[in-house]
Amino acid sequence: MKVVLHICCGVCAAGAAERLQAEGHEVIGFFSNPNIYPEEEYQKRLAVARETSRLLDFPLHEGSCRPEVWREKIRGWEDAPEGGERCEICFRIRLEETFSFMKERGADAFTSTLTISPHKSAEAIFRIGREIGGEKFLVRDFKKRDGYKRSLEIARERDLYRQDYCGCVFSKEKTQGREQVARSKEKNR
Ligand code: SF4
Repeated sequence: MKVVLHICCGVCAAGAAERLQAEGHEVIGFFSNPNIYPEEEYQKRLAVARETSRLLDFPLHEGSCRPEVWREKIRGWEDAPEGGERCEICFRIRLEETFSFMKERGADAFTSTLTISPHKSAEAIFRIGREIGGEKFLVRDFKKRDGYKRSLEIARERDLYRQDYCGCVFSKEKTQGREQVARSKEKNR
């Protein structure tokens, strides 16, 4: 099957794409992440996703959803805990764009690297994927069968950049501390 794989970062993409290819699918990568803050981090993750796509020999496309659209959609949920409502909206925005891209490309199915993370609920991602695309959403929990471990192995072997926060400004603040993020915002003005 021709499967559009939503890619959140190159490291997660390595484990997920390798598994889909081993199942005999043709993978088309789709980097849709308007949540990633700041722009410099977005470019870094995109560059690693490109490296992974070269390494595993699949094409990679970039989404066009803008950060201001993402920000508007999560309005009111800025302080929600990680794994809560803000994250579900964030999954939905990215999976909706992936589903539209799948239809444009005439592919057979879509899925996401998001399930490879031990910090994300695969059940929530499956539910949202099914609500968006019905049977076209390919249910795969990429962390199973040591998928997460495998993506870390590939990252180590290839010396791929691994981020230490999920992606949005709120997750960055939580991991790195509000003061440090405020200082880097100041520096980037
Ligand atoms: S913590 Fe991650 S999944 Fe949740 S809103 Fe932020 S970037 Fe999206």
